[in-house]
Amino acid sequence: MKKFWSKRIRDMVPYVPGEQPKDRKFIKLNTNENPYPPSPKALEAIRAAVGDGLRLYPDPECAELRDAIAEYHGLPSDMVFAGNGSDEILAFCFQAFFDPDRTILFPDITYSFYPVYAAYFGLTFREVPLDGDFGMPVAELCRGGSGGVVVANPNAPTGRAIELHALRAILESNRDCVVLVDEAYVDFGAQSAAGLVPEYDNLVVVHTLSKSRSLAGLRVGYALGQPNLTAALRCVRDSINSYTVDRLAQAGGAAAMRDRAYFEATAAKVQATRERTAARLRELGFTVYPSAANFIFISHPDRAARALLAGLREKGVLVRWFDRPRIDNYLRVSIGTDEEMDAFCAAVQELLTKT
Ligand SMILES: *Cc1c(COP(=O)(O)O)cnc(C)c1O
Repeated sequence: MKKFWSKRIRDMVPYVPGEQPKDRKFIKLNTNENPYPPSPKALEAIRAAVGDGLRLYPDPECAELRDAIAEYHGLPSDMVFAGNGSDEILAFCFQAFFDPDRTILFPDITYSFYPVYAAYFGLTFREVPLDGDFGMPVAELCRGGSGGVVVANPNAPTGRAIELHALRAILESNRDCVVLVDEAYVDFGAQSAAGLVPEYDNLVVVHTLSKSRSLAGLRVGYALGQPNLTAALRCVRDSINSYTVDRLAQAGGAAAMRDRAYFEATAAKVQATRERTAARLRELGFTVYPSAANFIFISHPDRAARALLAGLREKGVLVRWFDRPRIDNYLRVSIGTDEEMDAFCAAVQELLTKT
């Protein structure tokens, strides 16, 4: 097997995305999608973009979308780079900012795409262990001398966030390399580093419209960084594919960014449901880590996470389990609607009462 495969990919272990079942209706709490629909204004803009215009290539610079993003963050639009989902942007960042001869750092427990990108682009990396409560090893990330630092804030799959002063410390002590901050979940309760972009020439902040803006299916993400850094991202993009964001995504993404009230309301609902669900699970004996994201990370003293995963699946509920050291007795549970979380808690309770 693997005849004709390039050497680059022959030994690759790619990222495994969460399941998107088509055969049966599940309560889907496994991929951190938003349970609420996208902004009606975004849907309207997408519908308006369906037409003869699709004959033409989209704007490679995503001007309108970038203006909407820039306005939302109060930054000039040359500090915004837009792309086809933040996974693509992260991949561009790994190519744009890191070199094989300088080790990059990220936590041992974090978004599992980072080691995949690092391996794919031939980078050396060191996984810095989170502390016993899955706290960010800030001091270790402040030692300096590395070729780059990558942190998700809030972190995935733990949901734990660090404060801006800790991020500042990481930025200050890594002045000669890029610090990449993946803020996929920041709108659910963490402090964004977006406001630090004009201050630090080594900071790149990556956002997605997939989670807090309910647009995982549209594939829009963006990076914030000083013009020198966004220029590097354009250099990577234009060496691979200039038209990464299609016309519908640019139109819908811009409208979603402009509809601040809608997304703030849905993000607030998700946070309220998260706290309610966490309290209920603690009553059921679970350890629930404080989360600033749209998911919770949980563990039960008497039930193996893997058994709960299988039991929940039988009851029509999908959650995420990672077969990785330190976290293989935990489940990551996305926050759905109140009704979905009630059904999830009821299913869990039934599994706990079964001996
Ligand atoms: C979901 C997620 C992303 C990817 O988002 P897309 O924009 O949908 O590609 C990036 N980073 C983290 C930590 C995520 O959880």
